[in-house]
Amino acid sequence: MNADVIVVGAGLAGLVATCELTAKGKRVAVVDQESAANLGGQAFWSFGGLFLVDSPQQRRMGVKDSFELAWNDWQGSARFDRLEDEDSWAVRWARAYVEFAAGEKRAWLDRLGVKLLPTVGWAERGDLRADGHGNSVPRFHVTWGTGPGVLRPFVAGVRQAAERGLVTFYHRHRVDELVVSGGAVRGVRGTLLAEDGSPRGVASNRDQVGDFELAAPAVIVTSGGIGGDHDLVRRYWPERMGRAPESMVTGVPAYVDGRMLDISAKAGARLVNRDRMWHYTEGVRNWDPVWPGHGIRILPGPSSMWFDALGRRLPDPCLPGYDTLSTLRHLRGTGHDHSWFVLTQKIIEKEFALSGSEQNPDITSNDRRAFLRERLLGKGAPGPVAAFLRHGADFVVATTLEELVAKMNRLTPEPLLDAGLVRRQIEARDLQLANPYSKDSQVQGIRNARRYLGDRLGRTAAPHRILDPAAGPLIGVMLHVLTRKTLGGIQTDLDSRVLGLDGQPIDGLFAAGEVAGFGGGGVHGYNALEGTFLGGCLFSGRQAGRAAAR
Ligand SMILES: Cc1cc2nc3c(=O)[nH]c(=O)nc-3n(C[C@H](O)[C@H](O)[C@H](O)COP(=O)(O)OP(=O)(O)OC[C@H]3O[C@@H](n4cnc5c(N)ncnc54)[C@H](O)[C@@H]3O)c2cc1C
Repeated sequence: MNADVIVVGAGLAGLVATCELTAKGKRVAVVDQESAANLGGQAFWSFGGLFLVDSPQQRRMGVKDSFELAWNDWQGSARFDRLEDEDSWAVRWARAYVEFAAGEKRAWLDRLGVKLLPTVGWAERGDLRADGHGNSVPRFHVTWGTGPGVLRPFVAGVRQAAERGLVTFYHRHRVDELVVSGGAVRGVRGTLLAEDGSPRGVASNRDQVGDFELAAPAVIVTSGGIGGDHDLVRRYWPERMGRAPESMVTGVPAYVDGRMLDISAKAGARLVNRDRMWHYTEGVRNWDPVWPGHGIRILPGPSSMWFDALGRRLPDPCLPGYDTLSTLRHLRGTGHDHSWFVLTQKIIEKEFALSGSEQNPDITSNDRRAFLRERLLGKGAPGPVAAFLRHGADFVVATTLEELVAKMNRLTPEPLLDAGLVRRQIEARDLQLANPYSKDSQVQGIRNARRYLGDRLGRTAAPHRILDPAAGPLIGVMLHVLTRKTLGGIQTDLDSRVLGLDGQPIDGLFAAGEVAGFGGGGVHGYNALEGTFLGGCLFSGRQAGRAAAR
């Protein structure tokens, strides 16, 4: 035997599981197809947003939250409808996860040294129904240090365990097969890939230089989702979301290739909810890409006007930051892959945030002063947003609407936008601003957002007319579908034990993180409340490590 447990995938879920195992004195082989430079996987690139319920940060901002409210929101979002079958474990994971987020999660992270910003973001405001999708209150807690800040204690823990001889890293080892013996999983087989000195996140070579086999009484699969492989995304694209886009940008590194899903299925694992995914509609092409097709997601405040490719304003609840999948479904019905934000300089300065650790250098480097300067006190858009405005292929700026629409039309093969149509809709919206009882749902939403201190201070511009020259210049942003998260995956019980087609645990096989649908094969059901993915890796990775250590 090479170890007590083999962990396939050195992302957040794998590192958390490894820490739990080594805390119990187990010897762990950590196997990853990428180099040591990529330790931590996607979480390194993440914004570090965490879903927490009834936290001190929320209370200080005047937010009243509770387990009951959060569980109601989760169920309204998840809409679990395969309860006897594919959702049978997912729904149990969901309840346990919301209990974790409302309970010990914050204190546990605090003990590990994970610190949170004092403000709480309001992501995924939802579909405007009390029993529907969305966060009733702000719950998106950003970590000081962003994704690397979430990873830090687990990377440190695994490195210390390696120094003690408990962890052996097998980088550039790509698992191609789980070794099954007498119905139990007892190891992994795969390909040794050539060394690769590329920096973190850059696609590495796939040159094969040998084979390998490792044996252990247990294997934990923590290999991430499918977002890096557009063909796989298209293959499992659900009919209810319309036709899959022909063109998408990629929100994850190339190693998020989804191969381990079918490899696990070959060893008997049951894959569920493969039609559930979480892709964003506010993707822009990265002017300074790291991985192939690299796109960045805009985390928008509520004020940008959203138009489809033909210049028609999107209906409720397709408002910025409200309902990701309703918007995606609506846009898939337009016959075009892209859509548009139209906004003002005043809006971009206050409302645009970009997801990703490298797009938030102030928070990533724990620089409190830079944070205040960039986000609250400073004039102009934060540096990374201003850089997109200057260099981004999807951004156009103009002083008049007609000039703006002409520039937007130049970004598509054919001019699809009619300036007159766009102007009529903006003028109608602007007319509603003089009216304190506006009938425009977006204007109502902006006013509601500003009743929350966190939004008023840092995320929602004072309401103004889009065509007010004093708020300009005008900005148009071409938006693409950005691939990101996989909501379904390997079905697991609450101990992260992988279930077979007969519903029974497969001896020796565990799964956690995105490959397991963040727990149970789909803890989110159809929709996510955001900040729930890192948390899902923490929770399911911890369960897997604890169970495999028994
Ligand atoms: C830009 C960005 C921003 C994000 N922001 C947030 C946020 O704010 N909040 C939030 O909750 N979530 C966020 N996420 C999502 C979150 O980061 C991921 O869902 C999570 O980190 C996935 O972790 P994981 O451990 O399951 O998998 P991964 O991080 O994908 O790690 C899997 C590892 O397995 C390896 N692997 C795969 N197949 C094999 C194989 N066959 N053999 C060997 N190794 C293999 C891969 O190389 C990789 O290192 C963000 C993601 C990105 C990319």
